[in-house]
Amino acid sequence: MKAIGIFGGAFAPFHNGHLRVAIECRERLDLSVMHLIPTANPPHRTVARVSAQRRLEWLRLALRKEKGFVADDREILRQGTSFTFDTLTELRAQYPKASLVLIMGADAFAHLHTWHRWKELLNLAHLVVIARKGAKLDASAECASTLEGLRTTDPDALHNAPAGLWMQLDLPLLDISSTRIRRLLKKKQSVRGLLPDAILNHITAADIAVLTQDEDATTH
Ligand code: ATP
Repeated sequence: MKAIGIFGGAFAPFHNGHLRVAIECRERLDLSVMHLIPTANPPHRTVARVSAQRRLEWLRLALRKEKGFVADDREILRQGTSFTFDTLTELRAQYPKASLVLIMGADAFAHLHTWHRWKELLNLAHLVVIARKGAKLDASAECASTLEGLRTTDPDALHNAPAGLWMQLDLPLLDISSTRIRRLLKKKQSVRGLLPDAILNHITAADIAVLTQDEDATTH
């Protein structure tokens, strides 16, 4: 069964840490295509004031020369809060016969139980949690009983069922975050090498002004 990857985030801005996760997941899990989804109105956090449209444009620039990736604007086009449950429901309708593989960082996985209709996410997709090599990952106490018996260590298993399993994937993670990029920009220091040149070459003074606004002052 072909498998479709899904990786969402604020991407404010998209950076090489995100890009490596996307590329390595696609290769290691043999994903036919990977949907990268900038979130519009996430329930748990605020996104720096930079517009969803601009974050999407950066993502498109980063992916322009990459094969097998989609800059997916569905959360931006949808009204209201960006629930992963709704995104997966849409993708399931788009790919009724494929395996869906939702990629998330260990930070997000630790809070999975706070996600809208989280218990139903495994009906729609598999879950792959990115971890630093050597890290021991366990489901949170709140998720343990729901996820019990659903864990696999075999990437092939993700191709044998459309949804319902979760797996830890160890990757050598780059020590890059969007927060760090915004802080460096604020100090007028170089961010070259932290994000794709295609994005860097398009970042304007107006973008930098928005990206470096005080996070405290940020609202939806
Ligand atoms: P911020 O610093 O603004 O919180 P971020 O760099 O963590 O942003 P997000 O857009 O919030 O990026 O991340 C989306 C997903 O990407 C999250 O699941 C996060 O764990 C993961 N991620 C972010 N940076 C890295 C990285 N360097 N390596 C691997 N995964 C990452």
